Amino acid sequence: MTVRANPVWFPGRFRDRLAYVFSHFNGPVLVPGDPGYDDETARFNTVAGPVRPAVVVGARDADDVRKAIDHARSAGLRVAVQATGHGLSAPVDGALLINTRRMTGLSVDPATRTVRVGAGVRWGQVVDAAAGHGLAPPNGSSPLVGAVGYTLGGGLPVLGRTLGWAADRVRSLELVTADGTLRTLSPYENVEIRRLGGALAAVPDVPNAIDHRTAAYSLTTIAFAGTDPKPPLDPADPSSTGLRFRNFLAGPQAPALAAEAYTPSTWTRLTSLKSTHDPHDLFL
Ligand SMILES: Cc1cc2nc3c(=O)[nH]c(=O)nc-3n(C[C@H](O)[C@H](O)[C@H](O)COP(=O)(O)OP(=O)(O)OC[C@H]3O[C@@H](n4cnc5c(N)ncnc54)[C@H](O)[C@@H]3O)c2cc1C
Repeated sequence: MTVRANPVWFPGRFRDRLAYVFSHFNGPVLVPGDPGYDDETARFNTVAGPVRPAVVVGARDADDVRKAIDHARSAGLRVAVQATGHGLSAPVDGALLINTRRMTGLSVDPATRTVRVGAGVRWGQVVDAAAGHGLAPPNGSSPLVGAVGYTLGGGLPVLGRTLGWAADRVRSLELVTADGTLRTLSPYENVEIRRLGGALAAVPDVPNAIDHRTAAYSLTTIAFAGTDPKPPLDPADPSSTGLRFRNFLAGPQAPALAAEAYTPSTWTRLTSLKSTHDPHDLFL
């Protein structure tokens, strides 16, 4: 079934403003009634009927995605993403839809056995490119499914019993967050440095368990769960206290590392309090 969009009337100045904003995108930006709108919003999976976003951005690159999110924020629109439209989508009517189908960059690095895929790449393309190097990706069963959308949903691959979940194979992500910032997330990026000292160093009149107040800086890595956080921080080792802050402990090794968040005397006091008041270790 094909449904034609009703042309939307925009007052002259508003339409000019939209035209100005949209002219800064590399890909097309279309509103209902524009030629190409139906094609840009078409989905592989038509179970839920046609989608009617207020604006659809045919992103060509990450910069288009960033501009789309900036525009959505300033126009008060919610954002939805579509690569192939294979999945079942949340309702996108009235939202800004980013269609990533033009973002088809794909490169295989046989040395590291990794593949870098654009947001619009389909698994069939990845299988073909990887096979040339004797490699197999954690692909879905349909060659038409998008590699990124599939992986973001976890991804139970054809070779899953051997390779595991597709999401567990991700090594790095380039993404635009809701504040419109383009970020790269990998175990060796996103090291956060915070300056300490000042009021943070002052011990309150009634002392509490926060230790390491004399440290000048704190370094934090934002990485995938289970990744060893140490390597990116190694260069700081010569001047590091080697200690940790309780707020930044996470993952299965957190209990074993908790003692590093306190001086030995504080740790002894805390463990003694815990065994007195929670003798059966009820609280994690
Ligand atoms: C009826 C049905 C049949 C299916 N059959 C098969 C099958 O035969 N084989 C198979 O392998 N899988 C199948 N799937 C599952 C399919 O792999 C997943 O739905 C997958 O998420 C589709 O990804 P896509 O990018 O192709 O689709 P899309 O619908 O474009 O995207 C799926 C989801 O991922 C989000 N998304 C996509 N790209 C991005 C991005 N860059 N950033 C943020 N979010 C993004 C979308 O917003 C959407 O929520 C089926 C699903 C359905 C509903």
